[in-house]
Amino acid sequence: MKQDSCRRCGHELEVNTKCKICNEANQFFCHECGYLTEEQIHFKCMMINMDNSLLSN
Ligand SMILES: [Zn+2]
Ligand SMILES: [Zn+2]
Repeated sequence: MKQDSCRRCGHELEVNTKCKICNEANQFFCHECGYLTEEQIHFKCMMINMDNSLLSN
C-alpha cells in the first residue's frame, strides 16, 4: 500500500528510506510539516536479510 499524501497536512510525501532488499520505498516523510511515517517492514525481505547474515559469505 502506498502513502502519497501526508496525514497531517495533505502535502505530497517523499521517500525517506528504501528497503535494502527489494529497493521499494518503505518510509516516507513530509517536507511541509516534517511528518514521518512508520517504517514498513517486509517480512519476506526480513527473512532474506536474516538468511544473508547467517551465511558469513
Ligand atoms: Zn523489501
Ligand atoms: Zn505534512
